[in-house]
Amino acid sequence: MNKSIVIPQMKNIRYLIILLVSSVIVLSFSSYKKVVKTKFTVILDAGHGGNDFGSKSDWISEKDINLKIVQELRSLDKNPNIQLVYTRLNEQDISISERAEMVAMNHADLLISIHSNFSEQLSIPQDFKILVSKDSSDVKSKKYANILAESIKKMSLQTKVNFMESPTLLLKKSGVPSLMIELRIRETEADIKTQTNSKAIKKIAKSIYSGIEAIQNDH
Ligand SMILES: [Zn+2]
Repeated sequence: MNKSIVIPQMKNIRYLIILLVSSVIVLSFSSYKKVVKTKFTVILDAGHGGNDFGSKSDWISEKDINLKIVQELRSLDKNPNIQLVYTRLNEQDISISERAEMVAMNHADLLISIHSNFSEQLSIPQDFKILVSKDSSDVKSKKYANILAESIKKMSLQTKVNFMESPTLLLKKSGVPSLMIELRIRETEADIKTQTNSKAIKKIAKSIYSGIEAIQNDH
């Protein structure tokens, strides 16, 4: 008689323990899933903005070209494995700290800061420089810079990777693999007009986006 009472209780306790353990496993797994990112997150930073014009020529300001490129990149933002986050999509003036905060808040995998410059010395209308820190510990940034450079070259655009002795403040502060793209445009009014027309900007943005896709595939 006693036995028949004890056994169901034991069964109940065992059942409760199993239930408890499985709940803990399920709960911890679901909270783990929330933390794990499935997308490769890239912060795209259009350099300067607002009252900060960047470099200027008689015909255009750097901040406007940087913004055009990033806006064009936004229209290409279709890859389900990649999440692009933009520091600015308009004329906002954002501080370096605010930009760095966005990198941290979004748990970014990569920061790409886009800048442009005007030069009278270029033998071709335009080229790219990809700048990374010279710091030898920054292995990922260098790897990503090379992948990006290869993709840009595939679009028949001239580019090379350069190492910075002292990286920009944003690159220093970001705490994640970081690159700076500097589009260089030959400084004649005709060259600037040609290189900032929508067709050229589309090609530039496409080359950068295919580079981001190649980096995501390889990371
Ligand atoms: Zn700049």
